[in-house]
Amino acid sequence: MTNVLKFERVRLTQDDRDHRPGECTHHHLKLDSRGGIVSCVDCKTSLSTFWALTMLSEQYQLALANIDRLTARLTFADARLISLSAALDKRDCSGKGDSNNTKSPLD
Ligand SMILES: [Zn+2]
Repeated sequence: MTNVLKFERVRLTQDDRDHRPGECTHHHLKLDSRGGIVSCVDCKTSLSTFWALTMLSEQYQLALANIDRLTARLTFADARLISLSAALDKRDCSGKGDSNNTKSPLD
């Protein structure tokens, strides 16, 4: 009897996938509420519920960040509109603008 194990053949498989079993890249979920099963509509892969929850959480964070960006742009546009309207009103009041147009087209 010997304590030495023979390595006759070693097989190595490299996994270069971007996603693991239970995950996919489509982000198109189908929720089976009766069976508690989450799957992908596009590739029909059965998905991990933890992965689905994590993915939805990340998508939610991205959506909130997008809302924040759009809100900032809207605030900037409103401020710019008010500034331009005030400049136009000032120009009209000083007599340099069209005297027939007493109201700003932006009002
Ligand atoms: Zn898929």
